[in-house]
Amino acid sequence: MSDTERKYVLAIDQGTTSSRTILFNHAGQVVSSGQLEHEQIFPHAGWVEHDPVEIWGNVRETVGMALAQASANHHDIAAVGITNQRETTIIWDRNTGEPVYNAIVWQDTRSQDIVDRLAADGGLDRFHEIVGETLSTYASITKIMWILENVEGVRERAERGELAFGTPDTWLIWNMTGGVNGGVHVTDVTNASRTMLMDLRTLSWRDDICEIAGIPMSLLPEIRSSSEIYGYGRQEGLLPGKPIAGDLGDQQAATFGQACFQPGMAKNTYGTGCFMLLNTGTEPQLSKNGLITTVCYKIGDQAPVYALEGSIAVTGSLVQWLRDNLGIITSSSEIEALAETVDDNGGMYFVPAFSGLFAPHWRSDARGAIVGMTRYNTKAHLARAALEATAFQTREVLDAMEADSGAKLEQLRVDGGMTANKLLMQFQADILNTDVVLPVVAETTALGAAYAAGIAVGFWEGEDDVIANWEEATRWSPQMDDGEREHQLHQWNKAVARTLDWID
Ligand code: ADP
Repeated sequence: MSDTERKYVLAIDQGTTSSRTILFNHAGQVVSSGQLEHEQIFPHAGWVEHDPVEIWGNVRETVGMALAQASANHHDIAAVGITNQRETTIIWDRNTGEPVYNAIVWQDTRSQDIVDRLAADGGLDRFHEIVGETLSTYASITKIMWILENVEGVRERAERGELAFGTPDTWLIWNMTGGVNGGVHVTDVTNASRTMLMDLRTLSWRDDICEIAGIPMSLLPEIRSSSEIYGYGRQEGLLPGKPIAGDLGDQQAATFGQACFQPGMAKNTYGTGCFMLLNTGTEPQLSKNGLITTVCYKIGDQAPVYALEGSIAVTGSLVQWLRDNLGIITSSSEIEALAETVDDNGGMYFVPAFSGLFAPHWRSDARGAIVGMTRYNTKAHLARAALEATAFQTREVLDAMEADSGAKLEQLRVDGGMTANKLLMQFQADILNTDVVLPVVAETTALGAAYAAGIAVGFWEGEDDVIANWEEATRWSPQMDDGEREHQLHQWNKAVARTLDWID
């Protein structure tokens, strides 16, 4: 049987809180899935770690769960795609397969001193032109440096070529293709673009940046496209001989799964935070407005496609805060019914700058503020203000994208847990003055990885199949009049100004 005659593509989504495996059929529909959470390890304030061995075990288990649920086995699988939490840094021993330290998760801020040290010579933007990003604790570079500088013996072992670095995609592909017995050490361009070690234009590692950072280049995986065969499942695993053929960071995978293939198309994922990506075509566009320039995807030997990305730290997590810290709702979904009991925010604005403001402001001195309150306000206004904060923050990122790209967005494709909230989605359309569109298959992240893998083996022909499978479920169109929108944005901007300069 050729790969194109097989029934399913298997996608592994190795996320921040859980690992999932989903089987997709040729129509791009979910056939079955398995999911397992892993431990969040917080050794100190600001530190976040995962156990890479636990993650690898969970991934294998979820593969088994998804296959079993579909009564399928590897003979039914045409290809395997992987998508993952980005930037999260794992270093392991090539000879034993053992990690030298836990995975340092993207949210981890322990490397701030290293950021400051690098910035002392040339500023936070010293590599921006090359890698598309401002120095912060977010990218992998300072996490790798931290392990090299703080875990005993690691630097010497790295210099002897005994160790390997990877984001979770790389760790999983290495293990899946044999580990110590010939595992392939690769990553894709989208994941590599989040390390701050890759040149956005040549798509290769920068030896000058590695040298400044003291990172031996022998640690680094080979950079490949997002859609090609990297290797084959090891014989003793659940996917023996299966081509592992798709690899994208989670937000880029969602953009791919949303079929945002034309410059000017954008998606926003509404989860605990929001991540919005705008396809800018085959040339990287550097941001003057606080956005990250990233590789969006690269199919085989075709030209890479780039994106501008805006990340918002607190959106769905603000709903969780109302639930867990204030107790005014008992579940996230309850916020909608509460917010609906009032017609508007009653003049209240909630800027959730709990850990400063991310894109497009990047102000670490900001802290959260609820402003505009009067004796008239109730918890329903607070609920409404909390939901609206997500929409306002998305508008700020979109404004930055339009300023950088010169393009006007025609519609915003959306996915993620908060899209279940119809009140929010309507307000989003109103505040953006743009249609907001939700697809039938909301599992866009795993779907994107599945498409990348399926295209590489001919299970799908190419982007046209993805476009054909993409189907609209719900559309929200703007209903707010211009004067009201302007007023709302004016008030929001004033509220944001009140949060700045809080931390001295
Ligand atoms: P992640 O992938 O970041 O874990 P999800 O896409 O699963 O996130 O979305 C979960 C987030 O969405 C949570 O922060 C939760 O509070 C929020 N959320 C879920 N349902 C709703 C809802 N109906 N209204 C508002 N927020 C919601």
